Amino acid sequence: MIGEVQADCLFCRIVAGEIPSTKVRETEHTLAFRDINPQMPTHVLVVPKAHYPNAAALAEADPALAGTVLAEAGRVAGDEKVADSGYRLIFNTGSGAGQTVFHAHVHVLGGGNGELHERLV
Ligand code: AMP
Ligand code: ZN
Repeated sequence: MIGEVQADCLFCRIVAGEIPSTKVRETEHTLAFRDINPQMPTHVLVVPKAHYPNAAALAEADPALAGTVLAEAGRVAGDEKVADSGYRLIFNTGSGAGQTVFHAHVHVLGGGNGELHERLV
């Protein structure tokens, strides 16, 4: 169900603490944790704790929460000291665009020379 925790969803399980993650920030409604396969020196994922299948679905259902996710992404960039040098926010949407986890998340990418590693996240 949209907006509820889904037992078979990787990021719902990370939010629930059933799968370990390296948390960098947490609020009542969001969690930020390091990507397991970093594509830049800073590579953090920010997710709403509630389940939405992608960013647009999140924004349609709960625009305030979508805004909170974006604001948290900016705070992660500040904490990670990439706000001044610059960073990318990426929302992959659909498997054809590389989305592999169907729980809304934004990639916060920065640091190094600005090049991505193996894949376009
Ligand atoms: P996407 O391809 O946009 O759906 O992004 C999913 C991201 O989740 C990928 O960059 C993966 O490296 C990352 N990922 C997969 N499993 C984990 C995990 N257990 N902990 C942290 N990040 C993960
Ligand atoms: Zn989920």
